[in-house]
Amino acid sequence: MPASMQGELQPTIYRFKFGDFEIATILDSKVVRDGLHPSHGGEHPASEMEALAAANRIDAKRVEHPFIPTIVNTGKQLILFDTGNGALRREHEQLRNRSVDGHLVERLGQAGYRPADVDVVVITHGHPDHIGGLTEGGKVVFPNARYVFGAAEFDFWKRGENVREARKFNRELFVKIAVPLADRARFVQPGDEIAGGIRAVDVSGHSPGMMAYHVESQGKRLLIWADTCGHYVVSFQRPEWQLDVDDDKEKAVATRKRILDMAATEKLFVAGYHMPFPALGMVEKSANGYRWVPVGYQLNL
Ligand SMILES: [Zn+2]
Repeated sequence: MPASMQGELQPTIYRFKFGDFEIATILDSKVVRDGLHPSHGGEHPASEMEALAAANRIDAKRVEHPFIPTIVNTGKQLILFDTGNGALRREHEQLRNRSVDGHLVERLGQAGYRPADVDVVVITHGHPDHIGGLTEGGKVVFPNARYVFGAAEFDFWKRGENVREARKFNRELFVKIAVPLADRARFVQPGDEIAGGIRAVDVSGHSPGMMAYHVESQGKRLLIWADTCGHYVVSFQRPEWQLDVDDDKEKAVATRKRILDMAATEKLFVAGYHMPFPALGMVEKSANGYRWVPVGYQLNL
């Protein structure tokens, strides 16, 4: 008898030693969206996107979009960067069709971490797929955690001035689930150290105060760059193309180019929230742009 089909089986946790630290990337969830275009590069004809997709052997019409938080154990503190989608889809009518159930807590458990073990939750920026796992059913998910927000980011969403139409619900959500955490939060500026070896880097543009985090231990360096790049082909090979989810499109382009150049020049490892799992790679300069080079075994040795 022929063997039965077993269905998809794909990794959701990748953990490695990084100097004195232990780091894991965890797949919270993923969605399949229709079409790279016009959400990416909408100011260019669709034919340009089709050519780019074909050259990279991906389908321009169907896009897998993953959500991948990073957790760092420094040996002194367990620090989670972003919280995935959590219960957003179930708890908010407005997100029913746009969001997806998060699996971060369950997969953290598989990796050996309980929510109560998390000492610090760092929010890179206030978009739903990054703050969604902060609370569930009105309760905080990480009961012992303190929080870190970029000061400008927190201020922007809290004030609610100049929020573009497409982000109005995002603003409501931030006020509901993130603002109440202020009394347990620290608000940081670019350059601030949030723990020994981990400092904030300005990557604003995608959101008004988005922050990346540069993690360094024993000479190894990793940049947790949040949503600096939204897609592993388009954002690298056409960094100047606009992205509809970037709140300040021109600034996001400038930031993308600056950070791509930095990651390539300084030979950083990168953890990219929306890069294909395990969302770890390097940036290589190419003739007209850059390329995402997924990690091989570099982090295993
Ligand atoms: Zn995102």
